[in-house]
Amino acid sequence: MSDEGSAETYVGSVDKPLAPGLYLVATPIGNLEDITLRALRVLRLVDRIACEDTRQTQKLLHHFGIKTPTVSYHMHNEGSRSEELAAELKAGGRIAVVSDAGTPGIADPGGQIAAAAIAAGVAVYPVPGANAAISGLIASGLPTEGFTFHGFLPSKGGQRKTVLEELPRGSGTHIFYEAPHRIEDTLADVEAVFGAAQHVVIARELTKLHEEFLRGAVAEIRAELAKRTVRGEMVLMLAPVAVEAAALKGKTSIGAEVAALMAAEGLAEKDALKRVARERGIGKSNAYRELQREQNRLR
Ligand code: SAM
Repeated sequence: MSDEGSAETYVGSVDKPLAPGLYLVATPIGNLEDITLRALRVLRLVDRIACEDTRQTQKLLHHFGIKTPTVSYHMHNEGSRSEELAAELKAGGRIAVVSDAGTPGIADPGGQIAAAAIAAGVAVYPVPGANAAISGLIASGLPTEGFTFHGFLPSKGGQRKTVLEELPRGSGTHIFYEAPHRIEDTLADVEAVFGAAQHVVIARELTKLHEEFLRGAVAEIRAELAKRTVRGEMVLMLAPVAVEAAALKGKTSIGAEVAALMAAEGLAEKDALKRVARERGIGKSNAYRELQREQNRLR
């Protein structure tokens, strides 16, 4: 009987040669023990390892006694290098891609070469392991059944606020990567958009010696961070954004605005909705969908 589709655990064949293809290998985000046995085997057996920063990866390889040649593969040469590596893969090569830390392709290089390999008809293998977003989420205490990973927020204040304002309401946990020198400004924006009580979690220095979770209302977390010099890598998470948060921006809900216009001016619902959409600078169908979402939430 074939193993295909079997529910049994599959243990990689340690004594078999590695199949040709592209291996996207996750590496630790701070704790070297988080490397997997499979990652070590793959890194040992591939022809080359494409690294975001060869010096950074050398430290990891040195620690585990791996001598596989490396090649640089980063944000600035991702396009040209992807083509070169795809040609090598097409000729039967076995290449691993690693980023400085965590899972390649997640706010890191990796996506372009995966697409190039797929386009060239080459097998692409994920070798899963550490990831900061998922590690932060599972220990955050926030809902895990629905979540959205947004990567880094824009560094400019105006754009950052717009992204926050446009987060879908009431739809699961929102996960962001954030830099320590920006976290205080970002939290100020979170408070301005969603109010002082918005529940946030910061997961700092995950898997490292000084791992820390800060959980609470955004105003409390800001007060805590104001007392210290904020350092270290971090993941910022927002609890599902409350529907009422829209009111904090001085806006009432679409439903309330429509109802007020119908009462004050005797408009039909569809005309009132058209007017509200125009005043908010959004399309009629968007306004209608938003109205329906609000009504569903109230049921
Ligand atoms: N590919 C990586 C992954 O799988 O998580 C993420 C790479 S991204 C360039 C780096 C960002 O991830 C950091 O700025 C920080 O927001 C987050 N991060 C990485 N390591 C972390 C850690 N140990 N603790 C908290 N956040 C971390």
